[in-house]
Amino acid sequence: MSSPFSAGKLVIANWKMHGSVTQVRAALSVLSQDSACNQSHIMIALPTPYLLLANEWQQQQQAGWQIAAQDVSSFAEDGAFTGEVSARMLADVGCRAVLVGHSERRQYFAEGQQVLSKKLKALAQHHLLPILCVGESFAQREAGLAWQTVEQQLDEVMPLLKELPQVVVAYEPVWAIGTGKVASLADVEEMHTQLQKKLLHSLPACATMRVLYGGSVKADNAEAILALPQVDGVLVGGASLDLGQFKKICQASEKR
Ligand code: PEP
Repeated sequence: MSSPFSAGKLVIANWKMHGSVTQVRAALSVLSQDSACNQSHIMIALPTPYLLLANEWQQQQQAGWQIAAQDVSSFAEDGAFTGEVSARMLADVGCRAVLVGHSERRQYFAEGQQVLSKKLKALAQHHLLPILCVGESFAQREAGLAWQTVEQQLDEVMPLLKELPQVVVAYEPVWAIGTGKVASLADVEEMHTQLQKKLLHSLPACATMRVLYGGSVKADNAEAILALPQVDGVLVGGASLDLGQFKKICQASEKR
């Protein structure tokens, strides 16, 4: 029987709160014209105002890449929740996946177990793939609590993960996000091995799982990170805004 971790490598661009109509159009054009980027395992998580633009482009050009969102409302049903964007709306504009539990949302919006559980439930209802981000702070790693922290973040939402046909977890050490500091290959290997073991044990019925790495992935380190058998893809922040770098990261994923 093949392993649930054998589905191939994913590359997800996280634009965070960056971009403009002009920049998005230029990026979509580059992605669509590049054979390494114009693939279903390449996803672009744009700010919400640009999702429809990406959806229309994708349909007109029959582009291969997929669209992701950076957040979703924890309110499952549409209603009087000013400013919120529901899972139904994200599915309606062609999103395939949504980031959940990114450290920036945990830090700046105090998102924890309750909110994340509601978001996961809403996404499942609309058949959207959650990309669940987990990771320890520098102080937690220094105190020898890296695995304990990550395991707790997973355990908090494990009942929701059990409901999903496909599970994607992104290991993103907080101290490596946007800092230029990358976890060593040995640390990535160790954490991913533990994560895979934990997911296999906790979700024995799940047919497809992936553990991605995120944290200062760039054109010059992507190949080595993606070459690790325990790494099922990468979540790329800053370097995804630089299309030259992002193309190289997509090319590195193709070699695997
Ligand atoms: C991220 O936003 O998830 C991320 C990993 O950012 P960066 O690549 O800039 O560290």
